[in-house]
Amino acid sequence: MTKRNQHSDVLIAGGGLNGPALALALAQGGLTVTVVDQRPAPLRAETGFDGRAYALSIASKRLLGAIGVWDQVADKVQPIHRIKASDGRPGEGPAPFFLQFDADEIEEGPMGFMLEDRHLYAAFLAALREAPGITLISGESVSGQTPGPAEVAAELHSGATLAARLLVGCDGRGSGVAGRAGIRRLTAGYGQTALVTAVRHEHHHEGCAQQFFTPGGPLAILPLAGGHHSSIVWSEESGLASQIAALDDRDFLTALKPRFGDFLGEISLAGARFTYPLSLSLAERFVADRVALVGDAAHGVHPVAGQGLNLGLRDVAALAEVLITANRRGEDIGGGVALEEYQRWRRFDSTLLALGMDGVTRLFSNDNPILRLGRDLGLGVVNAAPGLRRRFIRQAAGLSGELPKLLTGRPV
Ligand SMILES: Cc1cc2nc3c(=O)[nH]c(=O)nc-3n(C[C@H](O)[C@H](O)[C@H](O)COP(=O)(O)OP(=O)(O)OC[C@H]3O[C@@H](n4cnc5c(N)ncnc54)[C@H](O)[C@@H]3O)c2cc1C
Repeated sequence: MTKRNQHSDVLIAGGGLNGPALALALAQGGLTVTVVDQRPAPLRAETGFDGRAYALSIASKRLLGAIGVWDQVADKVQPIHRIKASDGRPGEGPAPFFLQFDADEIEEGPMGFMLEDRHLYAAFLAALREAPGITLISGESVSGQTPGPAEVAAELHSGATLAARLLVGCDGRGSGVAGRAGIRRLTAGYGQTALVTAVRHEHHHEGCAQQFFTPGGPLAILPLAGGHHSSIVWSEESGLASQIAALDDRDFLTALKPRFGDFLGEISLAGARFTYPLSLSLAERFVADRVALVGDAAHGVHPVAGQGLNLGLRDVAALAEVLITANRRGEDIGGGVALEEYQRWRRFDSTLLALGMDGVTRLFSNDNPILRLGRDLGLGVVNAAPGLRRRFIRQAAGLSGELPKLLTGRPV
């Protein structure tokens, strides 16, 4: 599978999730693409059930449909019919004020879709291998880059060099592409770590996604396909999280139960256990000389609202539209005009959303009684106000703002 070519229109560093999505969108628009990923692809593609999953918005579903990936995963998703958020303390149950959104409040329901990482990645990998115009180099990393007047040269760890008109950093939060381009980052820790696993439960989840805000951090219970499994993203103060992570499965479950509650009946652990230290990581600029950043390389956010990948796919849709259009007009796809257009489209929107989620996380990860009362009332007010509810729903579904074509389900 490892092929090399020296020149392509676009070179993508990073074959996680946003990298493959961008490659497929660009190839569909007639551009040649090389994707370099430092992980050997089969390692990730052959993972069994491990509970890691994403909440995908309606807009993300449309994009996956437009680039030919949705059909491969459609029978593996769990539609989200309802979202419920409440404030609470471990063992005390939820506070009386809560926020609830139902699928029938949105024209194009359901509210979103849960999809396991292993299915999404396998579908991307299969599509990359089949798509004409895409070269995938895995088990190799981009270690250097030199922009020139018409092309950028990228050095690989093996010593090989690749050239392209544009280098896109899809290389995650610690983006080397961004660092080498001199793009600085705003980073802020939350002092929280996410414990990620899956549980099996007695009662059917009915497609309901739950978010409990506790003083240590939010606990998300996200419905998986089949009805009796949910993915858990349990954020806790980092010191406590590392103690919990060190527990054996039985004691881990004992610690989880008072936070989880009994609304789904008896629960047992069903997936592998992962830990993710949580921080905000925002690139100061999304573009530099012959360089663009996409996904977590541009904005790494708290998983509180399950928006990280959805935000990245918005970047993918916007950048693909800008580059394909510029190419059709005979313009330089790595030049300043195209890159500025991409940055104008995405930087303000994603920075605002990232900071909004940052505010929500900090407001809710707090046991101050005045803040507690204020936020509980706030949840109650939003829940009772139809206009505000609608704005929240459209935002979560990824339907607000100026939508690139791919987010409306149409190819560029
Ligand atoms: C606990 C948790 C739960 C989440 N839940 C959700 C959710 O429900 N919904 C949602 O939308 N988002 C969610 N997210 C966010 C989502 O996981 C990320 O936004 C998404 O994975 C980012 O994808 P990416 O492709 O930008 O980066 P990554 O997935 O980080 O991929 C980066 C890739 O770059 C490669 N790479 C790095 N350096 C190099 C190099 N020098 N050369 C070549 N390759 C390189 C790596 O091997 C990797 O494959 C969650 C995140 C966490 C931590």
